[in-house]
Amino acid sequence: CFCELEGSINDCSCDVDTVDHFNNMKIYPRLQSLLVKNFFRFYKVNLRQECPFWADDSRCAIRFCQVENCEEQAIPQGIKDKGEHKEKAAFKYTREAQVGGAACSDGEDFDSSLGFLDTSISDQAHREFELWAKHDEAEEDFCIVDDHEEGSQYVDLLLNPERYTGYKGESAHRIWKSIYLENCFGGNNETANKFSNYVPHLDLRDVCLEQRAFYRIISGLHSSINIHLCSKYLLSESKDFLDPQGIWGPNVKEFKRRFSPETTGGEGPHWLRNLYFIYLIELRALAKAAPYLRREDYYTGIAEEDDEVKLAINDMLSVIENFQSHFDENALFSNGIASIKFKHDYKEKFRNISRIMSCVGCDKCKLWGKLQTQGLGTALKILYSEKLNLATESGLWDKPHIEADPIFRLSRTEIVALFNAFGRLSNSIYEMENFRRVLR
Ligand code: FAD
Repeated sequence: CFCELEGSINDCSCDVDTVDHFNNMKIYPRLQSLLVKNFFRFYKVNLRQECPFWADDSRCAIRFCQVENCEEQAIPQGIKDKGEHKEKAAFKYTREAQVGGAACSDGEDFDSSLGFLDTSISDQAHREFELWAKHDEAEEDFCIVDDHEEGSQYVDLLLNPERYTGYKGESAHRIWKSIYLENCFGGNNETANKFSNYVPHLDLRDVCLEQRAFYRIISGLHSSINIHLCSKYLLSESKDFLDPQGIWGPNVKEFKRRFSPETTGGEGPHWLRNLYFIYLIELRALAKAAPYLRREDYYTGIAEEDDEVKLAINDMLSVIENFQSHFDENALFSNGIASIKFKHDYKEKFRNISRIMSCVGCDKCKLWGKLQTQGLGTALKILYSEKLNLATESGLWDKPHIEADPIFRLSRTEIVALFNAFGRLSNSIYEMENFRRVLR
């Protein structure tokens, strides 16, 4: 079978078999039970944001593109309140750091100290600090987080599984093309030409590691999305146009069309391999952020479930930390001054990709596209965050009473996106095993 991939994963010290086994036996089952928990199933996102690049052609009429709204009362109160609470806490910390006060406060009550802030500083100063804090945090971001903007809403991911929607043609192609074109660093015409006929075949021998990695990441994401639509394909639909129900299941023919060497000019198996590359990147990010993620409270207000989630996270992070062949993030951006510029460009390009997601012409694809690019952006932020390195080097994580938040912070939305995005990749690798079995 063409999808029987073998050998090492390019630019990594790990092979496909090892990842298959590790994912399918250890990670996939754990994620399956974790991602149905309330903390992870409600994702805040803005699906109404205008496309900043071209006239909006994004209102697709296909019935399977629609995102089903959830009932307000289905969202645990703790999730709604916590967003508020965290924001205030972050503001307080950042302000303290700025005025040179103690950045950490053992068990101090946020709200009471905010009461003090509210009365002791003017609104103007408050706003300035807030802007300063946001700017400071955004510096490290590889992604635009739009969950604060007007029009953002909570979406129940379980009500809206990623699957075949029928979104295709010019609109879908324009998105993929724009995303791949972001890989043209430094306005290099030759590279741009390689992408310009859209089929994004890039001779990877010609380009530096950072550019290869960029391409592999995007291609891996593209493979993952397309594997999902093949594994949850619309096999039979209701005759009633208003009825969104149908029968969904794996479509082997579609999988072959998208990935076999015969139909893809020999590229399909490489695209599948790239899925393993992006998987290893996100896996490494989880391992690196493990001390931080263990300290999160995963608060929904449902005490029993929150405890369960914390235990499950701890268990999964331990499994991930014990994985032997992690991706070496230091291989990228390690070439002195040139790397600083490269890293800056990388951030810009990934932020642009997250903007492009607002142009996706199918709401359900947009939802999962936004979530997966945000999860990826969060993984890159973790891997290349100076602040996280600083917190780790200074041993902040080992001191239970000291909050490292002012140094490194992830919002709830980023954490939800990170775990769900990784869950999507894990699911794709698992589904590949099913396709392999049938194709064998
Ligand atoms: P496309 O997938 O559109 O690919 C276009 C070209 O890119 C191919 O002809 C090939 O040359 C190249 N290519 C394909 N795969 C790779 C790869 N892995 N690496 C490198 N190059 C590659 N559809 C759904 O049904 N459900 C969804 O949830 C969904 N989500 C989407 C999310 C986003 C952000 C986007 C942009 C599209 C989404 N789509 C979704 C649409 C889907 O990805 C395809 O675009 C669509 O099915 C049309 O497929 P296609 O055969 O024309 O090739």
